[in-house]
Amino acid sequence: MNPGERQAVVLGGGLAGMLAAQVLARHFGTVTVVDRDDLGAPGPQPRTGLPQARHLHQLWSSGARVLDTLLPGLTQQLLRAGAKRVGIPTGNALFSAYGWQHRFPEAQFMLSASRDLLDWTVRQRVRADPRVVVRDRTQADGLLGSAEAVTGVVVRSVADGETTELPADLVVDATGRASATRRWLAELGLRPIEEDLVDTGITYATRLFRVPEWVDGSFPGVSVQPDHRDGRPGQSGYLLPIEGDRWIVALSGTRGGEPSADDASFTEFAGNLRHPIIAELIGDAEPLTPVQRSRSTANRRLYPERAADWPTGLLLLGDSMASFNPSYGHGMVTAARSAAVLDRELSSGDAGPATMRRVMRGLADVVDEAWTFATTQDICYPNCRIRSGDDRLLPQQANARRELTDAIGTAAARQPEIASALFDVVTLAAPVSSLMQPRVLGALRAGPTHPPLKAPPFTAEELAMLRRSTRRTVRESTPAAG
Ligand SMILES: Cc1cc2nc3c(=O)[nH]c(=O)nc-3n(C[C@H](O)[C@H](O)[C@H](O)COP(=O)(O)OP(=O)(O)OC[C@H]3O[C@@H](n4cnc5c(N)ncnc54)[C@H](O)[C@@H]3O)c2cc1C
Repeated sequence: MNPGERQAVVLGGGLAGMLAAQVLARHFGTVTVVDRDDLGAPGPQPRTGLPQARHLHQLWSSGARVLDTLLPGLTQQLLRAGAKRVGIPTGNALFSAYGWQHRFPEAQFMLSASRDLLDWTVRQRVRADPRVVVRDRTQADGLLGSAEAVTGVVVRSVADGETTELPADLVVDATGRASATRRWLAELGLRPIEEDLVDTGITYATRLFRVPEWVDGSFPGVSVQPDHRDGRPGQSGYLLPIEGDRWIVALSGTRGGEPSADDASFTEFAGNLRHPIIAELIGDAEPLTPVQRSRSTANRRLYPERAADWPTGLLLLGDSMASFNPSYGHGMVTAARSAAVLDRELSSGDAGPATMRRVMRGLADVVDEAWTFATTQDICYPNCRIRSGDDRLLPQQANARRELTDAIGTAAARQPEIASALFDVVTLAAPVSSLMQPRVLGALRAGPTHPPLKAPPFTAEELAMLRRSTRRTVRESTPAAG
C-alpha cells in the first residue's frame, strides 16, 4: 500500500500519544488521535484524563534532547514559556542516601515545568501538522479485528454516546497506566500477556507555593532522598521552580511512611525527612493549592514482545506498556525515546509485520533500562509487593547491582568525575554498564577529591537570600557550602 493511503490511530493524546502521532505523520497518510478529554483549551489547563499533572514532573535532559529531535526547538519554546533549566548537579542541592552532593559542574540537566505546560506545548506543535487529526471528547472502547490482526478501534463520543468504528492499519495504545488493552485483547480471544508488578506503595503529596519575595533571581532545586539501606519506608521531598514564579513541592513515602492529604501536616512531613531544609524553605512561602495526592505509582510492565500470538497492527507505547515509580523521573524520557524508536524503525522499513517486530523489541529495550533502574532499587523498601519473573530482582543479582551503585553514589558525592558518570545513568543518558568504564573505576580507586559536606551546599548568593528570609530556622541551619 502507498504510505500516503495508510491510516494510523493513536489512542490517548498525552505525551506518549502526541509524540507517537508526530512520528507516525511522517510515515502514514493520516493519523487520528483519540482522547476522551477536551483537548481544545487555548492554554495549559488541568484535565481529568491527566490527574498526575498536578504532581512534580521533571523532564531529564536525555528526554529533552529526544523531544528536540522530534519537535525542533521545543526546549527553547518551553524555556520561553517559563520552564526552568536546572543543571545537574550544579542547580540542585541534593541530599542523597550518601549525604550532601557537591554541586559539581553540570553533567546533565532537567527541565522543570508544570506538566500542563509541557503537554500543551507539545500538543500545539503536533496539531500543527495537517496529517494529524485530533478526535477529543472521544473514548476508545475496544479493538476491531481478530486475534491475528487489529484493523481499527471502536470509539464512543463523550457528548452523545454515539459509537463509531475507525479503521486503521496501525493502532497505537497510548492510554497510560489505565490502559484496557489486556481486556480488549481477551475480547479478541487472545491469551493474557505477561505482566510484572513491583509496588512500593509510594504515595505522592504535592503542593504549589509562590516563590517567596526573598528569592531574587534563581534559587536551586532541593531534593532530600531516603536511604534505602536503613530498612525504613523511603520518604523523599523535592522542591523545584516552575513557570509562573512558583515552587512545586512533592513529598512522598513508601508503604508505611506515606504523607497524608492534610494541608496542616505537609510542612511537618517535610520537616521529618532526613534533612528538614524543605520545611524550612516553605515555612514562610504562600501555598497556592491544597495538598494533592497520588497513589498511581507502581512499577508495572507488560511484555507484548514476548507474546507468541500478538496481533499485527497493534503497538503499546508509554505508560500503557510500562509505568514506573515516579521518584526516578523516567516516564516521560521513556515515552520520548519510545517514539524515537518508532520513527527509526519506520524510517528503515515498511509498516509490515517484520518492522513491527523490530519496533516491539526496540520499545522493550527502552523500557528495560527504566524498569531495571526503578525495580532493583524499589525492592529494598519494606513491604514492597513483587509479582515478577525478572531474575534481576532475585536477591543475589539485585544486591550485586546495588553494591555497585552504592559505591558509585558514595563516591559521586565527593568526586566530580564519578558524579558525572552517575548522573548520566540517573538521567538515562547512559546505561548502567557505563559505570564500569576504566575512567570511572580509576576515579573510584583514587578516592575522594572533595571533603564531605555537613550542610546544604548553597552558594554565598543563595545564603544571602536565605538570610533575608523571615524564617530564623533557615538562617541558622544553613552554614556556607564546604
Ligand atoms: C505522581 C506522578 C509523578 C510523576 N512524575 C514524573 C516525573 O517527574 N518525570 C517523568 O518523566 N514522569 C513522571 N511521571 C510519569 C508520567 O506522568 C508518565 O510516564 C507519562 O504521563 C506517560 O505518558 P502517557 O502519554 O503514556 O500517558 P498519560 O500521560 O497518562 O496519557 C494518557 C492519555 O490517554 C487518555 N485516555 C485514557 N484512556 C482513554 C480511553 N479509553 N479513550 C481515550 N482516551 C483515553 C487520557 O485522557 C490521557 O490524555 C509521574 C507520574 C505520576 C503518577
